[in-house]
Amino acid sequence: MTNLHPYRGRFAPSPTGPLHFGSLVTALASYLEAKSQNGQWLIRIEDLDPLREPAEATGQILTSLDAHGLFPSEPVQFQSRHHEAYHAAIEHLLNKGYAYCCSCSRKQLQANFGRHPQLCRDNHTARDKPFAIRFALNDDQCRWHDQLLGPQHQVVQAEIDDPVLLRKEGFFAYQLAVVADDIAQGITHVVRGSDLLDMTAQQLQIYHALEATPPHWLHIPVIVNSQGQKLSKQSHAPALDNQTPTANLFAALNALNQQPPPSLQAGSVEYLLEWACIHWKHQGANLTSQ
Ligand code: GLU
Repeated sequence: MTNLHPYRGRFAPSPTGPLHFGSLVTALASYLEAKSQNGQWLIRIEDLDPLREPAEATGQILTSLDAHGLFPSEPVQFQSRHHEAYHAAIEHLLNKGYAYCCSCSRKQLQANFGRHPQLCRDNHTARDKPFAIRFALNDDQCRWHDQLLGPQHQVVQAEIDDPVLLRKEGFFAYQLAVVADDIAQGITHVVRGSDLLDMTAQQLQIYHALEATPPHWLHIPVIVNSQGQKLSKQSHAPALDNQTPTANLFAALNALNQQPPPSLQAGSVEYLLEWACIHWKHQGANLTSQ
């Protein structure tokens, strides 16, 4: 039987450093959610900002995912190769009045409580100095359903929250690229860390402006260190040891509250992933700190 709406999920790391335990947990949750529904699971490297991305990070992340048996259903995609598509999306948004040029500095916006002193939305931006392109949000009391966290309510403030789509320095921004790529890749389900929860209401508006159907979202709690900080490059999270993939995956399953039997630690990565797929319960994803 052909499934008309196959599940297509993805893991979309920004290559700011090697894979650490927190990113393994997110990768594993998105993998298991997809595989347990006979879905496809993709990897997309979100390499939008070369100034924050050490050259070796992408290779390190992909090597680590391989070592942990997390193989994508299709070739890995790279945002750095999608610039044409982002230009086209911006063009569409500008033409339809969903985007505008803005040369305001952060300082100016702060001093003006987030409102644009040059009335950027009314096309008053002088093009002779560097400008960003922003998305023009609508005021909204946005209600949507998270597949783990349940009903969500987010307030979106027009002008004040307008996200940047193209930065003054010429780099495309996350809010544009993530939506454009999830649409282009036919992503039906997004599993990601809850540090991105607040982005969702804005992304919903960008989906509508691009006349596309939004995916289902499932946000898992982020893994924190003993100081309560999210594991990340900034909090000096150590790189995963690729020599101990079974132990790392076993710890990640525990962090995802899947209660793996201890005997799995002695087995192979393949066997552990097979067990995890069969027993995956995202409702159990009640994450604890490491
Ligand atoms: N690239 C983002 C990150 O590494 C994740 C984007 C997403 O899953 O929507 O935090």
